[in-house]
Amino acid sequence: MNITSGTKEWANKNINWCKGCIHACRYCYAMKNALRFGRITDIEKWKDFELNLKLIKKRFLKTDKIYMMPSSHDIFPEILDESIQILKNVLEPGNKVLLVTKGNPNCIEEICNKLSSYRNLMEIRITITHNLDEYLKFWEPGAPNFYDRLLSLRIAKETGFKTSVSIEPLLTKQPEKIIEQINNFADSIWIGKLNHFNLGNSKDILEQHFFHDVRLIEKNLGKIIINVKRNCDFKGIYNNKIHWKDSMKPYLESIKNELNTKFCNSIFLSTIYEN
Ligand code: SF4
Repeated sequence: MNITSGTKEWANKNINWCKGCIHACRYCYAMKNALRFGRITDIEKWKDFELNLKLIKKRFLKTDKIYMMPSSHDIFPEILDESIQILKNVLEPGNKVLLVTKGNPNCIEEICNKLSSYRNLMEIRITITHNLDEYLKFWEPGAPNFYDRLLSLRIAKETGFKTSVSIEPLLTKQPEKIIEQINNFADSIWIGKLNHFNLGNSKDILEQHFFHDVRLIEKNLGKIIINVKRNCDFKGIYNNKIHWKDSMKPYLESIKNELNTKFCNSIFLSTIYEN
């Protein structure tokens, strides 16, 4: 099976204008690369962000590409004005943008107000990896809480933007709990597993707890997919709204027969996970 990686499933090109990100998510690929190539010396330094001011004055040409903005940092209050200007520079000639963010409601509100005339060109995708704040706090320490992300999604939807949610990396055994809450405000939902993260032995008790949880998720991905599909059927959520990232395709393949037969008309039952 041909597996596409991460953001390539969503957009042709990424545009970033900041080195570093205050959210400092534990699984951050950009942070890992910065460490690997010596651009930062430790994780704490990733929070010392640095803006690339060149893009503020750059004129972009119209292309037929979809630009994902940003992909290696987020948009947070400290860089909001510059971010809006850069988004505007890309949108102005008629380019399509996929804005991906953890969703600070103040930032989203300002973006939606100031860029409302480009609502047909820009989709706003909020990343929501868990519905419980204790998990978000551990994995994404500086990022908005669950309520703020829901609020951001709602603001984007109600101001007329196309919206979506990325449940990637999947950090909960029950993504259906997120899906139920976002269903009315998300036009599409993307689910992908945690990739390139070492869940090996840690001496830290807290890490052990959270890492064990993700190992359980990986072990039960087939069941999780089945449960999402059954729950969507049961609650009347349109199944085609849910897109599985390529990282989930082998697990979808492995449960194809189960999905085609006995689960088709079944009612929702709670899943028993293997420990
Ligand atoms: S929000 Fe995105 S870019 Fe920022 S630390 Fe988290 S994963 Fe990395």
